[in-house]
This record gives sequence, C-alpha cells and structure tokens, in this order.
Amino acid sequence: MMDHFDVAVVGAGPAGGYCAYLLAKKGLSVLLLEKDRLTRYKACGGGIPSKVVSNIEFDVSEALEVRTEGAYIAYDIDDFITIAPENSVGWMVMRDRFDSLIVNEAGKKGVTVLEGTEMRGIEETPSRCTVRTNHGSFHASFVVGADGANSTVAKIIDHSRSIRKGIAISAEIYVPDKKFEKQGPYSTFDFGVVPKGYAWIFPKSDHLSIGMYSMLWSMPDIRKRLFDYIEKNPILRDYESISVHGHPIPLGRSRKSYGSNRIYLVGDAGGITDPFFGEGIYFAIESAKIAAKSIIDRLVEYGNIKTYTKDINEKLGRDLDYSYLMARFFYYNLRLSFSHIVRNTHINSIFTKLIRGDIGHKQCFYRSMVRLVTCLSRG
Ligand SMILES: Cc1cc2nc3c(=O)[nH]c(=O)nc-3n(C[C@H](O)[C@H](O)[C@H](O)COP(=O)(O)OP(=O)(O)OC[C@H]3O[C@@H](n4cnc5c(N)ncnc54)[C@H](O)[C@@H]3O)c2cc1C
Repeated sequence: MMDHFDVAVVGAGPAGGYCAYLLAKKGLSVLLLEKDRLTRYKACGGGIPSKVVSNIEFDVSEALEVRTEGAYIAYDIDDFITIAPENSVGWMVMRDRFDSLIVNEAGKKGVTVLEGTEMRGIEETPSRCTVRTNHGSFHASFVVGADGANSTVAKIIDHSRSIRKGIAISAEIYVPDKKFEKQGPYSTFDFGVVPKGYAWIFPKSDHLSIGMYSMLWSMPDIRKRLFDYIEKNPILRDYESISVHGHPIPLGRSRKSYGSNRIYLVGDAGGITDPFFGEGIYFAIESAKIAAKSIIDRLVEYGNIKTYTKDINEKLGRDLDYSYLMARFFYYNLRLSFSHIVRNTHINSIFTKLIRGDIGHKQCFYRSMVRLVTCLSRG
C-alpha cells in the first residue's frame, strides 16, 4: 500500500466518511482510518432532518428506516401537544447502516479504508503530516480530524480545550407490538424530565430509540433519570430488552479556529454540533463539504486554515450561535418556554421549519422572538 496520501481522514462517522468521499471524487488520494470495525454501533438517536438526505450527493434511502410524520412535544409525559405538519420533517436511521453506506460510497470513489486502525499520534511539519497508528505510519499532505466528540486530533492541536460539552445517553428498546404501534411514525420530545435538555423517543423499523440530552456536562444521575422515565412512561415500561450507551455532545458555537496549518477539524471533532437539540449529523455533513472544498482549493494555491475557519463560521457558526442563544433561553426558562413557545402554534410551526431545514437558526430566533414578545405583550 502507498504510504503517502493527499489527505488522511481520521474517523469514519458521517463527517469523515463524507469528506473522504468528496475528496476522492475530485481525484485526491485519500486514506480513511477507523479505529472500530465497520459496521459498528454508534450511540445516537438517529433522527435526521430531511435536508440531510437532500444534501448528500448519493442515494441514502437504503439506510432510511422511518419517515417521521410529526412529534409529541411533552412536559413530563402527560402534558403534551401533537404536531403533525403537512410535510414530514425528517427520517430515522440506525447509525451503523447509515455510516457504513457513506463509507461504502467513499470506497467506490477509491478511498483506502482501514478499519480497526486507530490514530495514535500526528506530527505536523510545514510541508506534511505523519499519522501514527496501531498498524504503522502514513504520510499525508493534510489531515482531517473527524474522530468525534472526544477527538484525539483536536487534543493534539490543543483545540478541544475551547469546546464545551453537554451529555447524551441513548438506548435501543424493544417494546410489545401494541405499544410500538401506538408510538407510530411520531417522535416524542419531553422537556420536563431532565434539566436543561429533553428526553426523546424515536421510532425505528422494529424498535424505539430513546434517550436524554442535557446541556449540563455534569449529570451523574442521567442513567437513573432515563430508567425513571422508562418506568413512568406507559409506552416504554414493560420493555422486552434494552441496551444503554452514553457519549458527550459538543455545544457548538462559532470559534477562532477549526484546525491548524495542515489539520482540519470537522463534525463533532470541531465542536460543530447544534446545542439546542444536540443534533450533529447535519453539521457533520455540512462541515465535511466545507473542509473538502477548502482542501481542494488549497491544492490550487488558494486558501488556508483561516479561510476554512471563516467559511465554517459564516455558513454554520452563526447558526450555532443563535442555536446556543435559543437553548440558553429555552432551557433556563422551561416553564415559560413550554407554555409560550411549545404551546404557541405559530412558534412551533417556526421550529418545525427549522428542523426540516426550510429556515436557519437566525431566522428561527428572530421570528420566534417577535411572536413571543407579541404574545407576552397581549398577556
Ligand atoms: C446519545 C446521542 C444521541 C444523538 N442523537 C442524535 C440525533 O438523533 N440526530 C443527530 O443529528 N445527532 C445526534 N447526536 C449527535 C451525533 O451523533 C454526532 O453529532 C455525529 O455522530 C457526529 O458525527 P462525526 O462524524 O463528527 O463523529 P462520530 O459519528 O462520532 O464519528 C467519529 C468516528 O471516529 C472514530 N474514531 C475516534 N477516535 C479515533 C481514532 N483515534 N482513530 C480512528 N478512528 C477514531 C470513531 O470510532 C467514530 O467512528 C447524538 C449524539 C449522542 C451521543
């Protein structure tokens, strides 16, 4: 095997897989390193907005499990409203199948995929990078760090210190048929059961993915809270089997830098994740696109890590800043938010548009604020 590549991508999640695909499609030699064996389980709700499906160049329909028709928005299980927009807001995927599909497409474009290969160190010089792994060393002109929320690449370039994190825990849960049918193609978001966050129930083809997200990093009792929620919830209690997994979620904001001279950070590794919902797949795909374009431009002598940072902040970072503002307001005034935002049909339709991808976070913020102020001033 060759030992010098144009780009070495570390991590085969959606950010790494898609970035590798785009780079190889343009004729670059690309090495994709993944420490696990594919197909691997990934702790994730697997809820993706419709815009993810339309923004990916190839067909991902094989990995789509359920089209979501609407949502139950709840405050502590019993107090809830149903939102059933005319058009579906998104899809449910299982990450093992979704991520593998992307990596397979990358492989078809000529990417060298090394599974079970863990990146253990990177030496960056002005002209190239050397990537050390458990299976030897490789050289590359550029490295893309796509190794997730606990990114080693980000630690190596000292980027991870600036990333604040929340926590999420998820479980795959099998319930009796009648209960599964009762949930139907609807997602549940329950804002009354975990501080500064929410619990979710997402329908998959033969089971439910459930979990909790909180903006608070320190939540030692989150697992207990999840099991309390299961016991209190008539759909979930009496489950037949369950497996629980937890993982940090970066609280995305615009940042001073998303890399170093020859190292680009994408997706969770760059802290590019929506702090309101804890949703990161859309941002993984979008940052992968921006990184791929930036590296390709650079090979024809245009741009550098500063232009990449500027592009990320302009195209994604501003939205993340507004998302952070909304999250701070929403979760820190939860009672008011539930009565005046969730229960307000105008505002919840604005959020539906946001989730579907029809509007960005900035528009969502201003439109919701205008509605909220109008509503509060009328008493
Ligand atoms: C419980 C939970 C629920 C979530 N639910 C949703 C949801 O419903 N919708 C949504 O959009 N987002 C959700 N997210 C967020 C979403 O999972 C992430 O934002 C997304 O996975 C980021 O993709 P990524 O490619 O950047 O990183 P990842 O998907 O984390 O992929 C990183 C990859 O790098 C590999 N890796 C790590 N270190 C190394 C190394 N040293 N060498 C080689 N390989 C390495 C890992 O094995 C992994 O395959 C959830 C997150 C959690 C924790």
